[in-house]
Amino acid sequence: MPELAEVEITRRQLLHWWQGKSAQDVEVLDDKLLSESSLEHLEALSSTLEDITRRGKYLVLCFEDGLFGVLHLRMTGRIAPSTDAKLKYTRFSVQMRDDFWICFEDSRRLGTLTLTDEDPLTHHPRLKTMGPEPHDIKDGHELKTLLGTTKRRLKDALLDQNIIAGVGNIAISELFFDVGIHPEVRAHEVSLDKLDLLVEAMPPYFDALIDAQPVDVPMEYINQGGDVENPFVVYDHEGEECPKCKSDTIARLTFGGRSTYYCPTCQPV
Ligand SMILES: [Zn+2]
Repeated sequence: MPELAEVEITRRQLLHWWQGKSAQDVEVLDDKLLSESSLEHLEALSSTLEDITRRGKYLVLCFEDGLFGVLHLRMTGRIAPSTDAKLKYTRFSVQMRDDFWICFEDSRRLGTLTLTDEDPLTHHPRLKTMGPEPHDIKDGHELKTLLGTTKRRLKDALLDQNIIAGVGNIAISELFFDVGIHPEVRAHEVSLDKLDLLVEAMPPYFDALIDAQPVDVPMEYINQGGDVENPFVVYDHEGEECPKCKSDTIARLTFGGRSTYYCPTCQPV
């Protein structure tokens, strides 16, 4: 499932293939993709792509003439190059050369694309209220201030994009394991030392995932099945030996419909 790292990889891939160029042709293959107001700005997709900004899990595509696209990958969205306009799950594609298309693949069809002439960074309702990027939080004290007095689970608070941007369910499993935080701990009960460790662990966690993906190779997600190698330390490793203590096994807890993986020994309550 795409989280901050996968969205940043998508940003870099789109820039690699599309920046400074205009599409020769555009195919919208899913009627549900674009709202009526977006259809009024369809010309954006065939104008020159100048830059792309990422905020949390959103990408803001900046086209010439003040047009913008807001892309959210949701559960299964990803970018794939192709010699044809349509791959198996393509919802829209743009032709960059005679034999080269950039396809937006999305098997669950939950991804969204909004085309607009208003700057989304100041007008989009979700982007306007989004919390800071993990890379911009300087220490545990700042994170504690962002959390405020909430008594929610720390995990649930961190998934709230108005508190911190881009952090998802998989990242939380991996980061909590890294710094030894139990997945059910309440936000107001976490020590400042642990929050310091968490803030310190976030940028290298995301950077390692981003750096591991070649910019010209399409991403695969582990929850899509197939023969995809699990790149995570504890996520989706239930029942396997803990790689840290080697004396316990990775356990799974589910709340809010999401699974969290942890080591009961390394992450005590
Ligand atoms: Zn352990």
